[in-house]
Amino acid sequence: MQKLFKSAGIYLILIIIVLFVANSYFNKPDTPKIVKLDTFVKDVKAGNLKDVTVADKDHFVTYEKDGKQFKANFTANFGIADFLLENKVKFITIDPQRAIPWVTILINVLPFVLFFGLWMFMLQQMQGGGNKVMSFGKSKHKKLSKDQPRVTFKDVAGADEAIEELNEIKEFLANPAKFQSLGAKIPKGVLLFGPPGSGKTLLARAVAGEAGVPFFTISGSDFVEMFVGVGASRVRDLFEQAKANSPSIIFMDEIDAVGRHRGAGLGGGHDEREQTLNQLLVEMDGFNIKDNVILIAATNRPDILDPALLRPGRFDRQIVVGRPDLRGREGIFEVHTKGKPLAKNINVNVLARRTPGFTGADIANVVNEAALLSARHNKKSIEMGEMEEAIERVIAGPEKKSHVISEKEKKVKAYHETGHAMVAHMLPNIKDPVHKVSIIPRGMAAGYTLVLPTEDKNFMSKLETLDEIATLLGGRVAEEIFLGDITNGASNDLERATKMARTMVCEWGMSEKLGPLTLGQKQHEVFLGKDFSSNTDYSPEIAYEIDQEIRRIIDEGVVKVRKIMKENKARIEKVVEVLMEKETLEKDELLQLLGDNGGNDDGGPDDLREGEAEKAKNKGVKPKLGPLRPAES
Ligand code: ADP
Ligand code: MG
Ligand code: ZN
Repeated sequence: MQKLFKSAGIYLILIIIVLFVANSYFNKPDTPKIVKLDTFVKDVKAGNLKDVTVADKDHFVTYEKDGKQFKANFTANFGIADFLLENKVKFITIDPQRAIPWVTILINVLPFVLFFGLWMFMLQQMQGGGNKVMSFGKSKHKKLSKDQPRVTFKDVAGADEAIEELNEIKEFLANPAKFQSLGAKIPKGVLLFGPPGSGKTLLARAVAGEAGVPFFTISGSDFVEMFVGVGASRVRDLFEQAKANSPSIIFMDEIDAVGRHRGAGLGGGHDEREQTLNQLLVEMDGFNIKDNVILIAATNRPDILDPALLRPGRFDRQIVVGRPDLRGREGIFEVHTKGKPLAKNINVNVLARRTPGFTGADIANVVNEAALLSARHNKKSIEMGEMEEAIERVIAGPEKKSHVISEKEKKVKAYHETGHAMVAHMLPNIKDPVHKVSIIPRGMAAGYTLVLPTEDKNFMSKLETLDEIATLLGGRVAEEIFLGDITNGASNDLERATKMARTMVCEWGMSEKLGPLTLGQKQHEVFLGKDFSSNTDYSPEIAYEIDQEIRRIIDEGVVKVRKIMKENKARIEKVVEVLMEKETLEKDELLQLLGDNGGNDDGGPDDLREGEAEKAKNKGVKPKLGPLRPAES
């Protein structure tokens, strides 16, 4: 607010000065009095004239008499020079238009200057203050320079996978020549996604800190201005600056503000945002590996991003930054308590156990609260009691955004996830082996479907699809069998399973009863940019049969899953027990606990996939996550 007044004041003063100057010019106190030509002739005859100035072309003469200024017009044939010479009056001639051109210029330009000033002033007010006027259309990025406190990977705990991925980028930026000489391909863009407070911004800063390169950071909302075209020119400017300072990192926080699906929303979308997004895509395509600029973006909402952003050559690497598991939380507690006076009774393991579902930001908050409480209680160090109280506060606090998981919820999730894992493990046609199970929600549930949108789902056989559907049902059935009650945690699974079954019947012609037909025409709505309705081009009888078929597919899936659950009861109980304890199970341990499956997951096809993953890694592309990984509940 103060800033606003300050800049408003500057403009006001400027305008006042201009007005003052103009005023004093036009109303000089000694503005000559206009007199008739006879008066002038009389005055000449009387003598005592001073400063006689003849404007030859404009036919007037100015002079001073008795300390007063006078001006008289004369006609072209008056012969003023002769007349003055005759009367021995000294005079000079001028051509006023040439002599003082700046006056004319001022007169012509002044209104525009005033108008422009006023316009800018208003503009600034609309933008809510700040010194933006002069850098209008320039990017509003902040450049972090080297003397700012550096964040390193050591400051980030519990995000080992993400760090591993980002490490490669750090190495590239630290020594691009090494990579270039080998023709190695480094991703242009890295997309970090996960819930708020999980450390995305922190990770991006750590990459910059580790690599020691300039770091341009801009928040997605800075690009979206009320004036069309400003965002686009900011993007251009940002990329230019980053290239000029290369090697460098551009970090776009909250990219969903600009990267939203184009054409989404009624009324043709947001023109400005679309232009900005287009410019971003153009810039991303326009710079190449030699520019040594890497774009890192972060979002909480990968599901709403425009698919164009995620194509190869753009954000070709996607990194999930999820909520930390037990070990991760221990690490984060350690990071944030470092350098703080801790009482002997502080046990980070106990603290981590008390905080399932907390993000890094929540934990930072807990530690800070505990320090505040300790100070309030006049203690010399932070004790366990304060930590506990702080945890309670964060859980109960008004800004509890995180999803804190209760013991009961943990149990439900453990059975649910184990159910998915066991089914996937046992069924012969599941393409992806079970890699990991976690009861801590990892990223956004939608994050997984993002990687493989429905359109890209090529080549699915009928048996595979049926097994995928069964896997999706695994969570719900496990809850039912082992807990005797069911929760809404399976709603997304059920939705996906049902959609798959419908697709099988209506689009892929995989129902024996209905045959190889497509049923229902998809309607493409240009203005919505999405398929939003389908046209029923079949009779009510067929509609009934479709419903029957979908029901049959799901029912058969449930039967299959129930069988697997009943046959593997003991194993599931064991997995759940370990999962409750550790929260996350990695591939090896998980496979061991899931037990023998007759060689389904391991062996041939799996090895082939591993090979593919290797290949993909070498190409700098992360292997895609399967469309149906039931990693989320
Ligand atoms: P995001 O960008 O994902 O919303 P931030 O990176 O802004 O989250 O995290 C906010 C703060 O929370 C960080 O400044 C840091 O203090 C703390 N924090 C978050 N994640 C971690 C982590 N993995 N390790 C250590 N601190 C973390
Ligand atoms: Mg952030
Ligand atoms: Zn599930």
